[in-house]
Amino acid sequence: MSFLDYAPAPESTSILHLKKSYGLFIDGSFVKGHGKSFSTISPATEETIAEISSANAKDVDAAVGAARRAYDRTWSKLSGADRGKYLFRIARLVQERARELAVAESLDNGKPIKESRDVDVPLVAAWFFYYAGWADKLDYAGLGANPRALGVAAQVIPWNFPLLMLAWKIAPALAAGNTVVIKPAETTPLSALLFAEILQQAELPDGVVNIITGAGETGSLLVNHPDVNKVAFTGSTAVGRAIAKSTAGTGKKLTLELGGKAANIVFDDAPIDQAIEGIVNGIFFNQGHVCCAGSRLLVQENVHDEVVDRLKDRLSTLRLGDPLDKNTDIGAINSKAQLERIRELSNIGEAEGAERWTAPCELPAKGFWFAPTIFTNVSTSNRIARDEVFGPVLSVLTFRTPAEAIAKANNTPYGLSAGIWSDKGSRVLAVADKLRAGVIWANTFNQFDPASPFGGYKESGYGREGGRHGLAAYLTSSAVASAATTRGASK
Ligand code: NAD
Repeated sequence: MSFLDYAPAPESTSILHLKKSYGLFIDGSFVKGHGKSFSTISPATEETIAEISSANAKDVDAAVGAARRAYDRTWSKLSGADRGKYLFRIARLVQERARELAVAESLDNGKPIKESRDVDVPLVAAWFFYYAGWADKLDYAGLGANPRALGVAAQVIPWNFPLLMLAWKIAPALAAGNTVVIKPAETTPLSALLFAEILQQAELPDGVVNIITGAGETGSLLVNHPDVNKVAFTGSTAVGRAIAKSTAGTGKKLTLELGGKAANIVFDDAPIDQAIEGIVNGIFFNQGHVCCAGSRLLVQENVHDEVVDRLKDRLSTLRLGDPLDKNTDIGAINSKAQLERIRELSNIGEAEGAERWTAPCELPAKGFWFAPTIFTNVSTSNRIARDEVFGPVLSVLTFRTPAEAIAKANNTPYGLSAGIWSDKGSRVLAVADKLRAGVIWANTFNQFDPASPFGGYKESGYGREGGRHGLAAYLTSSAVASAATTRGASK
């Protein structure tokens, strides 16, 4: 241990009172699923955390039935102010149980506790507070006269921000007056199940939110159930495409939040120190398991060497290891399958001629780990410049002029986010205007706010979450149709 090493500072798990096994949360109670149960494990240790039920067709039917009854009998009869009171109550309970939720999230997902504690869980509370405020003001959201709920919303979410994605889905749906059946990802069901306990504490009427666990098959049964009015999906483009096909022509309203391959563009006049931090935050936050991650660094040629050298220095200081240690910067990769995908794409990057650099760090013997990695000498046709790696891997490309930066940034099938680093506001605005991405950050990256709409173009999906746009996805009225960005939206 050198004199600069940190002493271990693990967060205690004693605050968690986990059950050995969890059922499905249907109609206000935990019930046993009829599918084959599975274990959820810690990706940092590969140890089993709990046994999780799996919902089969019968269970999905029961959950949708409970949501329909709750919609008809209770939720649609409440005033917006009363719906808002439940959402405020949920937000406060999330704050009260914040530490417990953060520990559960890091345990099940592998993300560093400082991220779940300081980013995920506070944003979850913020999302419920924000939409609680909208519940009685739907008439003033600029979405037309008398906006109405759609009915039952089927929601399927991924594993990278389990509780935050749940909040992004549930909060606007309830504020707008819908009831919900939601399915968390199979590798990260734990925080959603703790959230179910919060719903019981909040005395949310039975059936307003139902949480069913299981793998892709359960998700497919849910989105294809004939009695759902709205489908909201966050996950891979391949599954999003399949859902778009299967829901086409059914009358179900659909929003898709899919993958991304964001360009983080650094001009030579950028504040380099800040840009380095922004690049690190852009791709190494949450092990790069971020749909809007700045996975393609476009750096102006004359500052390329300086930026890459400083980036390597900075990455050499990152601490990889126990997600529950408060000093950890890089946690575990969420699953073995994801680790294999990251390894495979990185090997392809090397085989295609890009130069690989890996941060010097020791990987723990157990669990799923991947050290921060940079590829230089990357060309736009390389797989690592085109495919979503969804891991701590940065591809570096260069440009000479703003026009070249824009052309390269837009040369992707995706269009979720982008970053621009420059000292000149006029340049930032001129470049941002030409980028085909749903969210564009200037001299910062990965900033999220419930008031700000988030969503993509092209293969990154359609529809927006956050802000009043996020409400539009769960409402119907003549004006909503034109206000919401729906299928085939273009810039
Ligand atoms: P995935 O598509 O495999 O799984 C996402 C969810 O869909 C899981 O709950 C899964 O069980 C379920 N699912 C799988 N097959 C299904 C089917 N046929 N029908 C219905 N549901 C099904 O993706 P993943 O590996 O869990 O997540 C990673 C992907 O999600 C990345 O591509 C990432 O970019 C994307 N993502 C996007 C956003 C966004 O907001 N745009 C946010 C987070 C993640």
